[in-house]
Amino acid sequence: MLLETKQKVLKANQLLPKYDLVKFTWGNVSQRDLDTNYIVIKPSGVNYEDLTIDHMVVLDLDGNIIEGKLNPSSDTKTHLEVYKAFPLVLGICHVHSTYATAYAQAGKPIRSLGTTHADYFYGDVMCVRVLTKEEIEEDYEKNTGKLIVESFKHKDILATPGILLQGHGVFTFGKSADESVHNAVVIEEVAKMNSITESINPDVKPIPQYLMDKHYLRKHGKNAYYGQGKKK
Ligand SMILES: [Zn+2]
Repeated sequence: MLLETKQKVLKANQLLPKYDLVKFTWGNVSQRDLDTNYIVIKPSGVNYEDLTIDHMVVLDLDGNIIEGKLNPSSDTKTHLEVYKAFPLVLGICHVHSTYATAYAQAGKPIRSLGTTHADYFYGDVMCVRVLTKEEIEEDYEKNTGKLIVESFKHKDILATPGILLQGHGVFTFGKSADESVHNAVVIEEVAKMNSITESINPDVKPIPQYLMDKHYLRKHGKNAYYGQGKKK
C-alpha cells in the first residue's frame, strides 16, 4: 500500500546524507498520505544506503502500525503530534545538522540576517526550551511534539517551517517529505552564514521588515512572482 508515498519518503531520507545533513542514522523524514491520513516514516536505526521501499513503516495518526516489519523511527511520536495539530503539514524532517544544531545547543534562534533566510523563512527560526525531567520521563518524544505544537500556536508553521530544540537539533516542515528536507538544507546553510556573519560582526541586526517582506512574499503567497509559474 501507499507505494508512491513510500517511494517519496525513501528518496527524501536518502537526501539527508547526500546534503550532508546527517552522520550515521541521525535523522528521519516522514510524509502524510492525504487520502488515508496514514504516515509513512523511516524505520529506526537502518542506514540510509541500506534502506529500501519495503523498510518504510506505515502508521495511523495514533501510532498503530498499519504496515511494516521494522520499528518506526524513535522520533515517530514527535512527528505524529505535529501532523495531528497541523493538517497542512504533509512532510517532516528531523536532523542534527552541524550549524543548526550549534544554534540549538547555544539556545539561540536563527535570526533573519539576509535574503537567503527571507526567501524561505518569514522571520526568525525560534529555539525552544529543553523539556523538563518530568516531561522526558513521562513521554519524551510525544512531549517534544507537544512543545513544537504549542510553540507554533499563534504562528504559521508553513511560513517559518522550522524550529530548533535547545540542546538537541532541528525539525523542519513542508507540504511534502521532499520540501521538509529542502527546508532543512536551507536552515543549515543559513545557520552557517549566520555563524560566520555574527563572528565578523557580533552586533549585526536582522534585515528590515520591508526587505524580508519583499523576498518572502515574492516567492510565497497569492501575489508571488518568483520562478516560471506566473509571468509578472
Ligand atoms: Zn534528534
